[in-house]
Amino acid sequence: LEPKDEFEHKTLAMDVMRPRRSDPSLSVLTQSGMSVEQVEAVIADTSYSGFPVVVSQESPRLVGFVLRRDLVISIDSARLCQEGIVGASQVLFTEPTLTQPHGGPPSLNLRSIMDLSPLAITDQTPMDITVDIFRKLGLRQCLVTQNGRLLGIITKKDILKHMAQMTNRDPESILFN
Ligand code: ADP
Repeated sequence: LEPKDEFEHKTLAMDVMRPRRSDPSLSVLTQSGMSVEQVEAVIADTSYSGFPVVVSQESPRLVGFVLRRDLVISIDSARLCQEGIVGASQVLFTEPTLTQPHGGPPSLNLRSIMDLSPLAITDQTPMDITVDIFRKLGLRQCLVTQNGRLLGIITKKDILKHMAQMTNRDPESILFN
């Protein structure tokens, strides 16, 4: 794979990232304010391998990234083994605090399963550099931001598909080494 040759077209991260304009918006989790049930609904309604965690829907600043399989395992085991965890429990990705919410069920803190510093690039990053980063760091996905706001995600497969389109090649025949 010679990324520099493949990308002389000056493609930018914004051209490859998802969601596309016509796609449903990026599936994110918020660092607080979502219930166990709501997180389970996001998991059930999508098949993505992971979810960015943001400050809030109004303030989509990146807090971390959590893998779908870790979420499923942690929620299932908390529901079974952790005292008081129910569908209405709040899921937190924040620093643990000693204070529990008044009245409601205990909350479930999942900060320990979150990647606290997922790699993020800006939407203007040229794709030749992005491919280099993917190869050198062995990434499976990276997040795309604009002025600190989370915009989208690029997976390794997105890059392979995009390269195949540009070069008219079978994605299977383009391999990362
Ligand atoms: P892969 O690209 O290896 O199939 P995924 O299943 O995670 O990995 O992603 C499938 C598609 O959905 C990709 O095009 C990816 O960019 C996009 N995607 C991944 N995670 C999310 C998400 N949380 N919200 C919206 N789109 C996503």
